[in-house]
Amino acid sequence: MTFAATVLTLYPEMFPGPLGASLSGDALSRGLWSLEARQIRDHGIGRHRNVDDTPAGGGVGMVLRCDVLAAAIDAAVPPDDPRPKLLMSPRGRPLRQARVRELAGGPGAIIVCGRFEGVDERVIEGRGLEEVSIGDYVLSGGEIAALVLLDACVRLIPGVMGKESSGLDESFEGNRLEYPQYTRPREWEGRPIPDVLMSGNHAAIEKWRRAEAERITRERRPDLLSPSSSP
Ligand code: SAH
Repeated sequence: MTFAATVLTLYPEMFPGPLGASLSGDALSRGLWSLEARQIRDHGIGRHRNVDDTPAGGGVGMVLRCDVLAAAIDAAVPPDDPRPKLLMSPRGRPLRQARVRELAGGPGAIIVCGRFEGVDERVIEGRGLEEVSIGDYVLSGGEIAALVLLDACVRLIPGVMGKESSGLDESFEGNRLEYPQYTRPREWEGRPIPDVLMSGNHAAIEKWRRAEAERITRERRPDLLSPSSSP
């Protein structure tokens, strides 16, 4: 089973974008995952293929029409498609590594990218879209958010990263941030690599890393240490 991503967007030319380079790009050409970007405007209304309209009740900006988006989704997704249908949205549940891992282990995802002021609420309900946020700030569109989500997923697909295990030690795994990393030179601008890392004593190194991860998490992200805050 390969991870199959279908992205619905007004800017399909933004894909694969940066995901065409480096590890994710190699994995894409090796067929470890697939990416299809579909143009929402193909389902637009009338000669001008309109996709948006003014907000009911007044206010600034434009809203993506529910009928247009639903038609785009229905054309892309057969009824028995097992993939979760996601809508990138600042109102969504904040994306965390645990959800990324779940998605990466599944059949893929359908990802709807909003634009303008967002999308008509009824298509979220009517097509059962799961709203996903990549953080507490507002982007101009869902495309970069979708690229972020896909990048996080793709690097966890078996065979994508050089060493299979290298995902398990990282920030957010086990609700800890990562310990500090060092490499050559041995000393730089008067700053040596901590002695313990040069000691060859693997138990001591492991202990130091665990303590450092704990310390940094406590300093920077105490919220990660209380399980209730990590949905
Ligand atoms: N008016 C909306 C913001 C719309 S931003 C509001 O106040 O909630 C336009 C589109 O960008 C959204 O529909 C969504 O698809 C995307 N987007 C913006 N910020 C995002 C975020 N933090 N996470 C995921 N998607 C985001």
